[in-house]
Amino acid sequence: MPFLRISLFALLLCLSTTSFSQKATYIANSGIFIQSGETKILIDSFFDNGRGKFATPGATQLDAMVAGKSPYNNLSLALITHSHPDHFNQQKVAKLMSTQKKLNCLTTPQVVDSIESVMDNFESIHDRTLTFPLSRTWKTYSKDGLTVKAAYSRHAGKINAKVQDLIFIVNVNGKKILHLGDADMNPDRFQELKLKYENIDVAFIPFWYMTGFYGAEIINKYIAPKKVVAVHFPNNGSKQSLAKIKQFVPEAIIFQNPGQSVTF
Ligand SMILES: [Zn+2]
Repeated sequence: MPFLRISLFALLLCLSTTSFSQKATYIANSGIFIQSGETKILIDSFFDNGRGKFATPGATQLDAMVAGKSPYNNLSLALITHSHPDHFNQQKVAKLMSTQKKLNCLTTPQVVDSIESVMDNFESIHDRTLTFPLSRTWKTYSKDGLTVKAAYSRHAGKINAKVQDLIFIVNVNGKKILHLGDADMNPDRFQELKLKYENIDVAFIPFWYMTGFYGAEIINKYIAPKKVVAVHFPNNGSKQSLAKIKQFVPEAIIFQNPGQSVTF
């Protein structure tokens, strides 16, 4: 059946040229590396302090990110959700932005302030450290076919109520990736952001949302992502926490080992 064989070959050729890898790889803690076609984004990955509890990127890996070595070459964007040391380090980000002279970083004013505090020549990167005014609504960043929507939320926990936290929706090649940072578990805020209408393909959510009914309801009712990934899981996370995640969000993928990945 030569015709069938030629058609199959044509179909395979067509599939291989139109499809490309779209995946998110676990860096450490809430750090995620998104790769979609030519687009590469690092979220909450430039830090070396796990507060004694959380995984951190390895020193060589961190150097490769900062220097823009493969696979972190030609980064499209750096995103940082908030100014805590298990999500970002000001010296590392200052070096990253000074080394990669075309890279933009979208983050909170608090993060930008602390980067500025450790630099003598902050002016050289000022234009590429982007923030949005603190507002209740979504703001949009757009460049080279990549769109990122960002909205502020309160950080989880009363003690951190003054820490600005950004929720990101990365929209790339027709897929939507949600990252919450350490956003407060407030159903009203999630409802207000109308996340369930976004059709999120994959959501990266702190594991503690998944250990009880309250957070699980936020995920199912107000976010409703196609895939959900638990992040911020401690190195010595308890068996009880894992069992609760299985109970409340059974479909959740749990990022525990750097290098794990999810496709979307
Ligand atoms: Zn935090």
